[in-house]
Amino acid sequence: MNYFSLNTNVKELRIGDNSSKGIDKEIGKYIVFTMKIPWDVLKKNLTKTPEKIIFVDSVEKDIIDNQIDNLDDFDTVLGVGGGMAIDCAKYTSWKLKKRLVSIPTILSVDAFTTPAAGIRVNHDVRYLGEASPNPLIIDYKILKTAPKSLNIAGIGDLLSIHTASFDWQIANKVKKSEFPFDSNAISNGKEILNFVYNNIGNIRENNNNGLRCIVEAYISLNTICLPIGHFRIEEGSEHYLFYELEERLKRPFLHGEIIGLGIYLMSRLQNNDSKFITSIMDDVSLSYHPKSMMILKEDLIDSILNLRNYVEKKSKLWYTIINESSIEKDWAEENIKRLNF
Ligand SMILES: [Zn+2]
Repeated sequence: MNYFSLNTNVKELRIGDNSSKGIDKEIGKYIVFTMKIPWDVLKKNLTKTPEKIIFVDSVEKDIIDNQIDNLDDFDTVLGVGGGMAIDCAKYTSWKLKKRLVSIPTILSVDAFTTPAAGIRVNHDVRYLGEASPNPLIIDYKILKTAPKSLNIAGIGDLLSIHTASFDWQIANKVKKSEFPFDSNAISNGKEILNFVYNNIGNIRENNNNGLRCIVEAYISLNTICLPIGHFRIEEGSEHYLFYELEERLKRPFLHGEIIGLGIYLMSRLQNNDSKFITSIMDDVSLSYHPKSMMILKEDLIDSILNLRNYVEKKSKLWYTIINESSIEKDWAEENIKRLNF
């Protein structure tokens, strides 16, 4: 895995124990998007007071626009936390043309390596703008202060290659692919999966090799996806189930866990090695069961039954297994049987 490739979005990667220490001395005046727990952990490594600390509780565009209206002048925006804090920082960096420094304090989502900010407009996901972390800071000591499960969740956006690449192959077969099909991208994605499978124990333990594996795998994913201009090998039906659930329930989820639920169900709909990918999720102890996300059985069934209707109404969503399935209640009930509620 070579993250010095020109095709990665990350301008500089600092990775190691205490790699965040003293970053505040290099970045001029800065503001921070964060949440309480990650900020309490990170601020011990800093000495300079930020111009403003914005505690994030939403990635709705209107709310962020309000928060960054009328700020005093500053040079750098720091994203400190999980996906929501990082996405707000990316959006602000792009919108106000400021330097971005990303310090993920958990690895639950690939937001810290992707260029566009995943924000919401009326609970509907939009990928806006382009921002590159300079630098991206992976501080093992900080990541290890988080509950292990939050870093393990980082594997969700990697295992989704299993279902999303399959979706792209389905789309290509019926000539519905929105992009020129690229079998190299598919096989390079499989290499990322193998790299992850070989590190399952390390990821479960949250040791340095496991944490590094997730970060390097994300960056490798970028080197495949940025040149072709889309993330189709990694985003497909498993993400669409999440979008439906998010719009239905109108609340955020821990990204990697809800994607895990999507992988569980969509690999079954695809008849795509579902036992194998489920065993990987179990082995790494990714918590993908509805119970841990407080999703009720009725809601999940309604979501599954509405899925095709949902994706067909959103023209921006790509062609996947969902477009060629008529999902009946029997199928839904049968396939959620082994999930915990
Ligand atoms: Zn994702």
